[in-house]
Amino acid sequence: MRHDHDPVGAVTRARPPGALRCYDARVDDLRDILRRELPGLEEAVPLAPLCAYGVGGPAEFLFAARDTNALAYAVRLALDLGIPLTVLGRGTNVLVGDAGLPGLVVLARNERYEIDAGLLRVEAGAELPGLVADLAAQGLAGLEFAGNIPGSVGGAIVGNAGAYGRAMSDVLVEVQVLEGSRERRATPAELAFEYRASAFKTRPDLVALSAMFRLDRGDPEALRAEIAQDAGLRRSKHPLEYSSCGSYFKNPSRELPAARLIEGAGLKGLTVGRARVSEKHANFLVALDGATAADILALAAEVKRRVREHSGYELEEEVRRLGRGQDPPDGSPALLSPP
Ligand SMILES: Cc1cc2nc3c(=O)[nH]c(=O)nc-3n(C[C@H](O)[C@H](O)[C@H](O)COP(=O)(O)OP(=O)(O)OC[C@H]3O[C@@H](n4cnc5c(N)ncnc54)[C@H](O)[C@@H]3O)c2cc1C
Repeated sequence: MRHDHDPVGAVTRARPPGALRCYDARVDDLRDILRRELPGLEEAVPLAPLCAYGVGGPAEFLFAARDTNALAYAVRLALDLGIPLTVLGRGTNVLVGDAGLPGLVVLARNERYEIDAGLLRVEAGAELPGLVADLAAQGLAGLEFAGNIPGSVGGAIVGNAGAYGRAMSDVLVEVQVLEGSRERRATPAELAFEYRASAFKTRPDLVALSAMFRLDRGDPEALRAEIAQDAGLRRSKHPLEYSSCGSYFKNPSRELPAARLIEGAGLKGLTVGRARVSEKHANFLVALDGATAADILALAAEVKRRVREHSGYELEEEVRRLGRGQDPPDGSPALLSPP
């Protein structure tokens, strides 16, 4: 990683005067800059194996950031170059379109953590269930509700992930964010956390680099037992044998789960293409073998339509839809790839 290099200068020199965005720059120049600045950069990488749904097209460019400096550097580089940027955690809450993602996809794989005086500092790419298991073994309580929520710490902060009435924002002290190209600490109040929502969801200029959480002392055995009990409950209620992103829609309220509305509309088992409303849990839209993102999108649209007709409720997606091909037919060309 060449942190001493000035990518802005490099790009400015490579472009004609006045050209500010990649659309104006030569594709080869951009590719060369990305390759030079991001060692290990890959091109045309299938995203399906990197996402829980197991569907979706390729990333035009993919870079796995193994530490926080590399994550921040890759994000700043994409901003400087003016190319489309997507930061991904573990892909457990995204539906990538069949045409894939243009520009640069950065995988947050910065995973270190440290604990000091009851405060956990953890990098955004850390895998949440593994982290919570480690904490439990050390008798550290606070995040055990998230012991079976797949994904990364960063992804969980973005979506304010939670279970059993608890959520990440309940134990969060601060987040180290990249705001545009400026790094700073943000408080939970600034990040506007709500049920499965945060400022990250509406502000693409915000990237979570790392976070600090408040922990309490707990009994390791009791914490382990709580996490194991939750895992058992999930196995009995969720169709974990199929690919999914967990609950597809947000619950309209705690008293009114989306699953009840979907089941009430008689939609369990509804199948569109190779996507199906689970018989086991109606808010899981599962991908059968051979499913495409278009199948899942079409099923979700049909579920929304029928729930609206049946009960008047407008379901809102919890799963993030990313990339081209989300509103088929979509013929939009790649931004960087030669035609
Ligand atoms: C079987 C199953 C069960 C689930 N159960 C639950 C549950 O009980 N509760 C719950 O809340 N969720 C649940 N989920 C959903 C999912 O696990 C969470 O939303 C998870 O926190 C997503 O993390 P991720 O790293 O996979 O995020 P990703 O899917 O990689 O990304 C999600 C969004 O966050 C953005 N993002 C990711 N990292 C960053 C970052 N560092 N900075 C800025 N933006 C970023 C991405 O661009 C994307 O828009 C479940 C999913 C599955 C598959």
